[in-house]
Amino acid sequence: ERFVRLFVRRNDCLPEISQGEETVPMSVEGKIVMVTGGAKGIGASIVKLFLERNAQVVIADASPDGEAAAGQWQDQGKKAVYVQCDVSKAGDAKKAVTFAEEQFGRLDVLVNNAGIFPRANLLQTDEAFWDRVMDINLKGVYLMCRAAVPVMIGQGGGCIVNIGSLHAATGGEELFAYAISKGGVVTLTRNLAHALAKHRIRVNGVHPGWVPSHGERALMRSQGAEDDWPEQRGSAIPLGRLQTEDDIAESVVFLSSSSADQITGQMLTVDGGLGFTLR
Ligand code: NAD
Repeated sequence: ERFVRLFVRRNDCLPEISQGEETVPMSVEGKIVMVTGGAKGIGASIVKLFLERNAQVVIADASPDGEAAAGQWQDQGKKAVYVQCDVSKAGDAKKAVTFAEEQFGRLDVLVNNAGIFPRANLLQTDEAFWDRVMDINLKGVYLMCRAAVPVMIGQGGGCIVNIGSLHAATGGEELFAYAISKGGVVTLTRNLAHALAKHRIRVNGVHPGWVPSHGERALMRSQGAEDDWPEQRGSAIPLGRLQTEDDIAESVVFLSSSSADQITGQMLTVDGGLGFTLR
């Protein structure tokens, strides 16, 4: 609250929405939000921040862990529900959006966060590997947008935030299929931002740098990295540390909020300056 008061005082020109007597920038209060891959990692932090800001959240995850995650939030009096959804399957994408409509009657924000990041260079990438990465990271975003957009058009607007990656811009020899899938997410984001503006649907991207998330920690562990790898690697980042899951969540919630009402088709890279060192 103190931050909001300071922010309002210093930013008189920010767009604001009314809440009775008070004006609140960066509000997502009351919004119905779906977060794919919201059971663990960055997605779980995105879910947490939306709930803390009084939104209501559908966790759409392939893993049944989403059920327990939603249950824990419900125990704390928050409105979170879970739907099993493999984003690479058209039927699951449609089922998840229908579930949100049945539960809440609308869908204001779709966060396409679910993704996998297995390491392989060109010569190590066989067809099955390529297809799996593309199916989840790129086709999954297309399928979720295709399911959600008619609902958003019908209700007169909405917001989509796609989680890409710094590697969409920098490449990454050992992340061949992954980097290309995230490049596709950038193009998809720009395409839909242009196409859907007339329906008052905003579409933006958030591109994390390097986040010791649940999945990234497991991967690094399997490659024999020491437990303190985030601190060691962080010292080489211009701003002095790796990014946290919460760093990414802040940008997603900002782009979904009243303060970003005129922002669409933009890519927000949250990498502490890591990208400068890779170019
Ligand atoms: P994570 O592995 O910690 O969590 C991923 C979540 O997505 C899990 O809950 C998992 O069950 C779910 N998921 C996986 N496949 C799914 C599918 N087919 N359908 C639905 N849910 C599925 O991963 P994370 O590090 O939190 O990554 C989240 C997003 O951020 C991904 O899109 C990833 O590419 C991107 N990203 C991560 C980093 C990083 O350093 N961690 C960097 C750049 C971009």
